[in-house]
Amino acid sequence: MNAFIRRIFQKDQIRFTIEWTDGKLSDYRLSDLQRACPCAACGEKKTEDLRLDPEVEAIRIVNVGMYALRIEFTSGCSQGIYPFDFLRKFN
Ligand SMILES: [Zn+2]
Repeated sequence: MNAFIRRIFQKDQIRFTIEWTDGKLSDYRLSDLQRACPCAACGEKKTEDLRLDPEVEAIRIVNVGMYALRIEFTSGCSQGIYPFDFLRKFN
């Protein structure tokens, strides 16, 4: 996998789109990504323990090196690092 993110654009408050360097467009709902949070703390929790907000928004989306994104959500866990290959498979 050697596609990188060319551009990220917000569709609305709860969704965004990634444009990859190979031209593919991927749509994401922020709450779906938070539900799939790959951090250790969320991995240990059962789904019912997570504070899941279907309308969760992003405060900001930060690049982590050249391989991943970190999303700061308006509520719930913001510790997850989302590698690009994870995002490509996700959607
Ligand atoms: Zn988490």
